[in-house]
Amino acid sequence: MPDRYAVIGHPVAHSRSPWIHAEFARQTGQDLTYEAILAPLDGFAQAVRAFRDAGGRGMNVTVPFKQEAFELSEVRSPRAQQAGAVNTLTFEHGRILGDNTDGAGFVRDVEENLNFALGGRRVLLMGAGGAARGLLFPLLARGVAHLTIANRTVSRAEELVGIARAAGYRDVAARGYAALSGERFDLVVNSTSVSLAGELPPLPPGLFASGALAYDLVYGQGMTPFLRWARTSGAGRIADGLGMLVEQAAESFWLWRGVRPATRPVIERLARELPPVD
Ligand code: NAP
Repeated sequence: MPDRYAVIGHPVAHSRSPWIHAEFARQTGQDLTYEAILAPLDGFAQAVRAFRDAGGRGMNVTVPFKQEAFELSEVRSPRAQQAGAVNTLTFEHGRILGDNTDGAGFVRDVEENLNFALGGRRVLLMGAGGAARGLLFPLLARGVAHLTIANRTVSRAEELVGIARAAGYRDVAARGYAALSGERFDLVVNSTSVSLAGELPPLPPGLFASGALAYDLVYGQGMTPFLRWARTSGAGRIADGLGMLVEQAAESFWLWRGVRPATRPVIERLARELPPVD
């Protein structure tokens, strides 16, 4: 019997994870199945336990359950603790282990796939929701020179800055969008959800240093308003979150199977099927 894995969310039908993990399994010769499970909004824990009790070995967790997965986890990795959210569950010796591979996926995509070293960079992180929190410590741990967090609700950005400061990081600041005027960054990351609504945060001009990278966490939308704006506003390069999606999946696969799949061919195949970013 192959080992069973799944992604759980609401909605979940759109998820690319079953295809990505099937590719990883084929590529590495692992005997497993990976399905998509739609959990009712009030039935996450029940659906997880039912999958585990039926012999499931692990799950990826997507919107809107990452916080509930954190609470359900009996053992949490340091990455999960720092992110305050869990996207990977492993069922082992009757216990639920929680980890978070989103930040590692982002760092790997930026540094390995896009060949953009994070150390010493001035970084602007837009947004202060779950995704931004997941990126906070992975970015700081890579030794960025300075991290500015900008958010519509500035108090939420200040909250993240407080968490970073409490962990000993000093070169971190919170801003509203208008207060970014006059600052320049090597990397600007859009971790807000505005691209999904076809919108753009109110960014002042002149944000990009020479050769800067603009990265939108959203994927599958082609040229988002942010990426379009970045291309005409001085960014040297642009990228969407497709690489991060595949890299976080690869990190989960590695946790579960102890094998690291080759991500580049998977990213390339998915990119050919989705609206282009160029
Ligand atoms: P979230 O927790 O709901 O946070 C949403 C963020 O967007 C908040 O900072 C919010 O600001 C901001 N926002 C929403 N509407 C806005 C508007 N009209 N103007 C300005 N700011 C606005 O969402 P999340 O979980 O962080 O996810 C964010 C995005 O990341 C999603 O699009 C998701 O698809 C993407 N994501 C991608 C990957 C990947 O693998 N590529 C992984 C994780 C997430 P306020 O605080 O002011 O409300």
